[in-house]
Amino acid sequence: MSNKRAVITGGAGFLGSHLCEKMLENGIDVVCIDNLLTGSVDNISHLFGNDHFSFIKHDVTNFIHVPGNVDYVLHCNVNPIGPRGVYDEAKRFAEAITMAYHRFHGVETRIVRIFNTFGPRMRLNDGRALPAFISQALKGEDITVFGDGSQTRSFCYVSDLVDGIFKLLMSDTSDPVNIGNPEEITIREFAEEVVRFTGSKSKLTFLDLPVDDPKVRQPDITRAKNLLNWEPKVSRNEGLIKALDYFKGAALHS
Ligand code: UDP
Repeated sequence: MSNKRAVITGGAGFLGSHLCEKMLENGIDVVCIDNLLTGSVDNISHLFGNDHFSFIKHDVTNFIHVPGNVDYVLHCNVNPIGPRGVYDEAKRFAEAITMAYHRFHGVETRIVRIFNTFGPRMRLNDGRALPAFISQALKGEDITVFGDGSQTRSFCYVSDLVDGIFKLLMSDTSDPVNIGNPEEITIREFAEEVVRFTGSKSKLTFLDLPVDDPKVRQPDITRAKNLLNWEPKVSRNEGLIKALDYFKGAALHS
C-alpha cells in the first residue's frame, strides 16, 4: 500500500518546515510548495535526499495542479506583509471560505487558530517580540518594549504546535480549534526574563505601541484538550533552552 500524501504550502517557512518533518515522521509523503518570499531552502535542505519529500518553488496565489493523489492539504499561506487589517481579514476570509467548501462541497476541512509560537528556524528579524528580544539580548542591544509592556502574550514551543496540528488533522473536527500555550506573561516581564535567561547586560527601552496592538492574547485550549486530548508539554523556559543554540547561531549571522 502506498503512503498517504500531503501538500504543504509555505512548507519552507518556520512552521511549515516543522510540519513537513512531522508528516514524514508519521509515514506521510510530503509535497512542499513555497515561493521562498519569507521561507528559505535552508529550512528544508536536510529533507532533499528523502524519497518521500519533494519541493516545488511556486507562488500559491497562482493556480497549481499537483499530479497524483493528495490526502491532505496544509495551507500555511498568510501574507505577513502589509497593514495588520489586511492580514487579519485574510485569516477571517480563509476560515469563511474553508467552511463554505466544507458545507457546500463536502470537502473534509480542518481550521487551526495558531497562537504565538517560537523555536528553531524562526526568522530573527520578522518583527516579533520573542526573536527580537533574544537577538537584542545576545548582542547586548537595548530591548525594544512597545508601549509600557503591560500587554500579555503566551508563547508555544514549535514541537507542541505541530503536534496539535497533526492531532487536529487526524481528527474529524471541522470547527476551528485553538492551538497555543495558555501560560500568559506581560511583554515587560518577558523582556526581563529574556535578559536574565541570556545573562545579558541589555536594558529595556520603551517605544510607541503599534496601532491596534492586542492587550491580551491567550488561547482558550479547552476544545483542543477535549477533542484532541492535546495540551502543550514544553514550558516557555524549556522551549527557550531548546531553541537557544539556534538563536545564538542566527544572531551571529545576522
Ligand atoms: N513587541 C515589542 N517589541 C518588539 C516586538 C513586539 O514590545 O520588538 C510587542 C508587540 O507590540 C506585541 C507583543 O510584543 O504587544 C507581541 O508581538 P508579536 O509581534 O511578537 O506578536 P503578536 O502581536 O502577533 O501577538
